[in-house]
Amino acid sequence: MFDLTTRDIKYLSGVGPQRAAVLNKEANICSLHDLLYYFPYKYVDRSRIYLIREISGSMPYIQLKGEIRSFEDVGEGRQRRLIAHFMDGTGVVDLVWFNGIKYILGKYKLHQEYVVFGKPTLFNGRFQVAHPDIDLAEDVQLSSMGLRPYYNTTERMKRIGLNSHALEKMMGIVLQQLREPLPETLSPSILQAHHLMPLNEALANIHFPTGAEALRKAQYRLKFEELFYVQLNILRYARDRQQKYRGYVFSRVGEVFNTFYSQNLPFELTNAQKRVLKEIRRDMGSGRQMNRLLQGDVGSGKTLVALMSMLIALDNHYQACMMAPTEILANQHYETICGFLHDMDIRVELLTGSVKGKRREKILAGLQAGDVQILIGTHAVIEETVSFASLGFVVIDEQHRFGVEQRARLWTKSMQPPHVLVMTATPIPRTLAMTLYGDLDVSVIDELPPGRKPIATIHQFDNRRESLYGSVRKQIAEGRQVYIVYPLIKESEKIDLKNLEEGYLHVCEAFPDCIVCKVHGKMKAAEKDAQMQLFISGKAQIMVATTVIEVGVNVPNASVMIIENAERFGLSQLHQLRGRVGRGAEQSYCILVTGYKLSEDTRKRLEIMVRTNDGFEIAEADLKLRGPGDLEGTQQSGVAFDLKIADIAKDGQLLQYVREVAQKVVETDPDGTLPENEILWRQLKVLRKTNVNWAAIS
Ligand code: ADP
Ligand code: MG
Repeated sequence: MFDLTTRDIKYLSGVGPQRAAVLNKEANICSLHDLLYYFPYKYVDRSRIYLIREISGSMPYIQLKGEIRSFEDVGEGRQRRLIAHFMDGTGVVDLVWFNGIKYILGKYKLHQEYVVFGKPTLFNGRFQVAHPDIDLAEDVQLSSMGLRPYYNTTERMKRIGLNSHALEKMMGIVLQQLREPLPETLSPSILQAHHLMPLNEALANIHFPTGAEALRKAQYRLKFEELFYVQLNILRYARDRQQKYRGYVFSRVGEVFNTFYSQNLPFELTNAQKRVLKEIRRDMGSGRQMNRLLQGDVGSGKTLVALMSMLIALDNHYQACMMAPTEILANQHYETICGFLHDMDIRVELLTGSVKGKRREKILAGLQAGDVQILIGTHAVIEETVSFASLGFVVIDEQHRFGVEQRARLWTKSMQPPHVLVMTATPIPRTLAMTLYGDLDVSVIDELPPGRKPIATIHQFDNRRESLYGSVRKQIAEGRQVYIVYPLIKESEKIDLKNLEEGYLHVCEAFPDCIVCKVHGKMKAAEKDAQMQLFISGKAQIMVATTVIEVGVNVPNASVMIIENAERFGLSQLHQLRGRVGRGAEQSYCILVTGYKLSEDTRKRLEIMVRTNDGFEIAEADLKLRGPGDLEGTQQSGVAFDLKIADIAKDGQLLQYVREVAQKVVETDPDGTLPENEILWRQLKVLRKTNVNWAAIS
């Protein structure tokens, strides 16, 4: 069969080994197949030629036809540029190049008719077009041009002549050379049922649309297919796993759970907590292994749900384990849970990197003997030396800090994979959750415990600091505590730390009567804990910190969160930080401090924060503003977003639709044997082999 994936790009006419190497490196194009699936990012209507006289203020990309009357090489060094005076009998525009001057001078001739394409801008009273596309007029056939594709290229590609135009030509050659049609990658029944354009037609039209409608259909078909296979892959994995692994059956809810419920539970559960507990109990009793994602905004009470689920495991004589991403957080969980379980005869232990020597040995022995019923810890719990007598249930808090591999290692800790509950306070929009965690069931706590006042969020410019500190003093006088957070971005850790230290000194000066503590990621664990403890115990009124406090820390008496350089944080990070306050009964405040100069995007982010406290709304907005690639949690989640044409942020509806189509295929053809689906299963196999990321979904 004619297989484009095995045809190296270097053999395409005009490419060769050197350009092929750049294409590999810069655009991940290795084969003719890769090239064909390198889709344009936009199309421009080139069916019309404008007169220079017609050019006006703000025009999009346009075409002109005329001659170059003279070249002018002006300026020196970095200012140097080449200007070509281009005329068509109705006026003059300047074509301008800032680099590649020698090449341009050699390539274009005077008194030769060209078609020039670019975006005119007004400069010193004259229109100019920078780095235009130029074709010999006689080569341009207007009727055939219509919508023209534009491809992303990098500087390195452009330097060796691989601009959008060159790619366009290469596409043309490949499509022309396709003597046989490519094999269809969707089944006839799916093509028919959903009115999809056949593959060959779609590929031809995505590069060289015969019209707007054909382009729309081609895009729809290719997006459909892309999302369909992502979903088919996930659903198929989920099914395979269900068949392969039985789950422990936790049939009873017994003494431990009931004692806790009737004697220790200090408050009424919210309806959302009750609902989620019911979902978890149902899973645990079903005979299949639970894989559940629990989403709930900061402060919604996930820890309690996790604890009560652990008690069900205990009632069925299994051990439970909870893994947190940082030591501070593991400590806090340990204390919270011991507090909740007071007077109950349950052995809970804490295992982190700093638990060593005799104490560690005792815990490890207790785990092996089955005496330790609940283990709480950091990554330390998945080290090889840790083994359980009967691990039945695992909770992973703040899941995005853990990689897929780490999750998988937990499974090796018991005969059968334990039930798994993954908790996250970074709400993931539905569409994204479906692609990322399509094999997990999702529970949502969409209700905060009663009595919480919404946090008031205020945006303040940094020159108003004195009045801001005035309000902070009032809060402190009333007995409240305050966080002041500085950004910490890896690449400039040193500068950030300097900001933090300076900020710390400044705060100490501004609040001479207060005890100010300080926490950042570069501190030794013991030192960090000591500082945290100062704040948790209420001895310190102010904590100056980097984002290490982002996750999970719970100090209900803290009512003010000041975020310095708020423009440097992403939306979900801001929301997480804000969640540190508003945990008590008092009115809480979040102050976003920025400089005056803000980009459009930043302004939007701050507006959203001021407007809403709803984590899901914020997550959706974040997805729209930043795109899924940047969304927190997606990088480490095991699914990189190398979608070529679909856009999770924009194609949510299609994703939903396509998921149902894939679901039906898996349901009606559970063993993958129906002849009508043969194409689908074969294609899925190909994709799993070629797409490394897909194999990693656990
Ligand atoms: P998160 O979902 O962010 O992990 P936590 O589990 O830390 O939230 O809960 C936040 C606070 O709310 C804790 O102090 C917890 O004890 C309290 N809490 C949890 N559930 C309830 C409830 N149903 N009613 C009142 N307070 C609750
Ligand atoms: Mg939590």
